[in-house]
Amino acid sequence: MSDERKYLSIIIPFHNEEGNLMMLNDELIKTLNCIDKSFEIILIDDGSKDNSLYIAKKIAKKHKEITCIELSRNFGQENAILAGMEHSCGDLIISMDADLQHPPNLVLEMIAKYEEGYDVVNTTRRDKQNNLLKIASIKLFYKILNILSGTDIKISSLNFKLISRNFLNEFIQLKEVNRFDRGLIEWLGFKQCYIEYQAEMRYSGRSKYTFIKLVIRGLNSISNFSTKPLHFIFHTSIIVFMLSLISISIVFFRHMLGKDEYSSLSLILAIFLFGLQYLSIGIVCEYLANIYNETKKRPNYIIKNIIKN
Ligand code: UDP
Ligand code: MG
Repeated sequence: MSDERKYLSIIIPFHNEEGNLMMLNDELIKTLNCIDKSFEIILIDDGSKDNSLYIAKKIAKKHKEITCIELSRNFGQENAILAGMEHSCGDLIISMDADLQHPPNLVLEMIAKYEEGYDVVNTTRRDKQNNLLKIASIKLFYKILNILSGTDIKISSLNFKLISRNFLNEFIQLKEVNRFDRGLIEWLGFKQCYIEYQAEMRYSGRSKYTFIKLVIRGLNSISNFSTKPLHFIFHTSIIVFMLSLISISIVFFRHMLGKDEYSSLSLILAIFLFGLQYLSIGIVCEYLANIYNETKKRPNYIIKNIIKN
């Protein structure tokens, strides 16, 4: 973090966004010049393979308000945002995407909410081109997540938020390796509000998240944030154990009566129990992997270079 304090820090993680960075920079500078406050923009290169880094470096060298942080490889959007946050010096911090889907002029509305006294201004996104499968899956994911974790996390854009310096100081104390930032933000509390925005179409390039990637991400977030699946296994195991005692008694009495042939029902039951057991082991393995990763305490990101004018 630099010694100089600023009013506003804008944090933008990017991964292969060569077609967007110049345009984003122009739009943002135009908007931020309208507010008579000091600001900085932090661009974080999350292991881009195209020309994005070269462009971001060029922008950073040209504008004294812009810093470019180069990570040593791709660490994922959440970790790139964290890198930006930990190097920011604003009283309020706004994170946004590099693809211009987040309208820069909404920043003014977010700041107005901060001035009203909110520590977190979340945003919910309405897409111009609705991908029904994606929307339905996101809604289903939040429903399952809230049931499994006993929380009330609302659908919001991960990377389009305003947070206050007070909030940020607490947020960066949470040194989890497997981060689920939406959950952590809700868990921290403070005064939060939601505003809605119309998401623009991507200016250039394609989304980095395919449907499969989103599903994997969703499943990881559940195991990162909640232990309810483990309690579920424990409770089901009691029921299954009682059922097995009943089954054994039935088989025993049928044997005594000389009727000990196998029925297809018992085969179905055995297959079902095998599936349940396999699923339970899978869930436990997922938690074990999380514990393994947490105990190693590797940093969430590695900075290779910081470019500043
Ligand atoms: N991003 C990143 N690291 C990644 C994937 C994405 O920094 O591993 C950035 C990406 O460049 C963009 C933002 O995160 O600025 C959101 O990504 P994207 O637009 O692909 O997501 P979507 O809008 O489809 O949810
Ligand atoms: Mg996007």
